[in-house]
Amino acid sequence: MLGKVNISFSDRRGRMAADPLGKLAEASAPVRVNSVHRAFGAVPVLDDIDLEVTAGSILVLLGPSGCGKTTLLRVLAGLEQADAGSVHIGEDLVTGPGVHVPPEKRRVGLVFQDWALFPHLSVTHNIGYGLERGERKSGRVEEIMELVGLGGLGDRSPGQLSGGQQQRVALARALAPAPRVLLLDEPFSNLDLHLRVDLRLEVRRLLTELGTTAIFVTHDQDEAFTLGDQVAVMNAGRIVQQAPPDDLYRGPASPWVARFVGDANIVEGTGLGASADTIVGTIPLRHEATGDHQVLVRPEHLDLTFDGPGVVSLVEYFGHDTLYRVDLGDTELSIRAPSAPVHANGDRVSLTYSGPPTTSWPRSSAPTSPTPWNPNYEALQ
Ligand code: ATP
Repeated sequence: MLGKVNISFSDRRGRMAADPLGKLAEASAPVRVNSVHRAFGAVPVLDDIDLEVTAGSILVLLGPSGCGKTTLLRVLAGLEQADAGSVHIGEDLVTGPGVHVPPEKRRVGLVFQDWALFPHLSVTHNIGYGLERGERKSGRVEEIMELVGLGGLGDRSPGQLSGGQQQRVALARALAPAPRVLLLDEPFSNLDLHLRVDLRLEVRRLLTELGTTAIFVTHDQDEAFTLGDQVAVMNAGRIVQQAPPDDLYRGPASPWVARFVGDANIVEGTGLGASADTIVGTIPLRHEATGDHQVLVRPEHLDLTFDGPGVVSLVEYFGHDTLYRVDLGDTELSIRAPSAPVHANGDRVSLTYSGPPTTSWPRSSAPTSPTPWNPNYEALQ
């Protein structure tokens, strides 16, 4: 979490007078991070971070708890100093050797996990908090309120709003000064599942429409994939892969990334060029491979048929699909079938691969090395 830091959002230049849609798009800027390092004491928390976010796009920082996501967001916001490296917002160097532009001069908007609203101020005053008097009177606050679906609620205090409405106030407050980039740290995590799903779609639509550059932090893969134009996967202080969601899912850089962004079977295989020979037959590959490889097999790309060398060891029905575990002697694989259960525990079955060309890694390639400050690392192998 970013923590409860109340900052006013920007300097006074370049703010919109009206026309939030136009002005917000105009304000949006790209973000460039080069070789950023940060340590707390002897423990490195950000290790050689490079990141590119194009203007008007949404980047999601996805990683396990403690991997450094919030620290990176705080460095971008100017709430944390970097030990080395640089951050540019637009053309401006805001973090670099001898340079540390303070948060209020960066023209970034912040949305926190706990929304950090002022409980004693009305919705209107919360949203207008970072604006000058003239700007507050210009009708901009009302326009932004309409934009985020808060019309008519201006006189209420945060305590008289639902969680989803409070989240909208936090978003409106961050957008009101037309930030160059919006930074959001797990903004939906305090909401129940249905509201979270609805709101993130709505926020994605809004930010896309506004053309706002946004960087979200989350540890939730669904959230990362539904929100992000690009997803940067972090582990143990490093960015291990940055790509659009579909590239990440189909072409993960390592077995660790493959498992972190979805269910994954990693099977032993022998590369035969455009395919690999595996325990579930010959599988087409995205990239040619020869020799010993580990091959990614997503559970939804396996079909089950009656009779064969496997034994069903688990059946879980989720409504939209069924998850099976099948014991193949030396190995156990997951299979997802888009139907109600047709196999039961103990059934003998065979498996065939029915998916698109998949990813493989040379047998020698190991996932990111363990680090003492990420307690989840072992669990993620
Ligand atoms: P989460 O998803 O749980 O919020 P995160 O990926 O955002 O985690 P950070 O909050 O950036 O991770 O923390 C990364 C590591 O740095 C953690 O081990 C944390 O304990 C440590 N850390 C963060 N801030 C400080 C600090 N001010 N002093 C010392 N250690 C810190």
